[in-house]
Amino acid sequence: MSIDLSAPPLPFSFEVYPPRSDARVPALHETIRRLAASGPRFISVTYGAGGSTGGRSLELLSHILRTTDVEPLAHLTCVGSTFAAANALVREFLDAGITSFLALRGDPPAGVSEDDMFLGDLESAAQLVQLIDRVQAERAPYSEYAIPGVPGAARVAPRTKVDIAVAAFPNGHPRSRHPREHIDALLAKQAAGATLAISQLFFHADDYLAFVQRSREAGVTIPILPGIMPITSPARLRRTLELSGEELPAELAISLEIEPTAEGQRAVGVAHAAQLAREVVDGGAPGVHLYAFNSHDTVLAVLRDAGILTTPLEKESAS
Ligand code: FAD
Repeated sequence: MSIDLSAPPLPFSFEVYPPRSDARVPALHETIRRLAASGPRFISVTYGAGGSTGGRSLELLSHILRTTDVEPLAHLTCVGSTFAAANALVREFLDAGITSFLALRGDPPAGVSEDDMFLGDLESAAQLVQLIDRVQAERAPYSEYAIPGVPGAARVAPRTKVDIAVAAFPNGHPRSRHPREHIDALLAKQAAGATLAISQLFFHADDYLAFVQRSREAGVTIPILPGIMPITSPARLRRTLELSGEELPAELAISLEIEPTAEGQRAVGVAHAAQLAREVVDGGAPGVHLYAFNSHDTVLAVLRDAGILTTPLEKESAS
């Protein structure tokens, strides 16, 4: 399977993270089932930089591969890894049948400065893109297909290419030194062989649309999927700003703060994300990628409100 964003209807996809404990596995599997039933183009699974969630990421990806007809997309990071370790990691995922990746460099653990750790043999996501392609070429230099009616004969065709996505930063990377640096980084990832970019979250459609336009002018031709995160509580907004370095979206922050109930705050978050999705799609986005926080109801509500999801959903009582 591969990721084709050009085929209608408008593609949407989800990001989930591996379960933090065994107790959370059944609920997450139910979420995967519900997300898969909505017909996403892929479901991506995050990977803890430094390998902290590696085994559990692969288990979840294998579960998606085994139990749904949705393409699983594996995030991989290479910060702190030797070349040999990164090579072995990529091979392990390919051997498990995963053929779509989001190649990331990843960040040092919280509180550790880049100067105080071994950052790894691979310096950037672009180098990981090249490594994934190379490992796949070594594993399967060509594809073989049986010739019907000719027992034992096989037709040899070029090798199956893997889909490799990369991260893009509409408002710049938190460590950008000049405004074009993140577009140069994206161009380098494309030159290395990336076929798709997925954006960091943003709060205003113009941030994404202007970034896409600047990227196109600079020579980026790969699709750039907008990453949309429904912010359903003031606590989630604070945590998201801490992690992403994005500026406080004042209007959304106030709307969340003045809502007295958790249900009301969730409705504010869903409405905001749905509006953002509508605006980026109207502006030409090739689809939408939703950060699901391991829960199906909020992201499915966003897609429904945005008019992107039109098929009837299962009744909530099915969970
Ligand atoms: P690269 O672009 O290759 O950059 C390598 C390093 O250079 C960065 O780590 C940073 O130190 C620096 N850098 C990057 N861009 C700039 C710039 N413009 N200016 C200055 N310095 C720069 N992290 C995880 O650990 N696991 C995940 O599963 C994960 N998933 C993500 C999914 C998405 C869609 C996005 C947008 C981010 C995700 N991240 C994840 C976070 C990501 O690892 C960090 O944002 C990281 O700093 C940049 O990763 P990169 O692959 O883009 O690195």
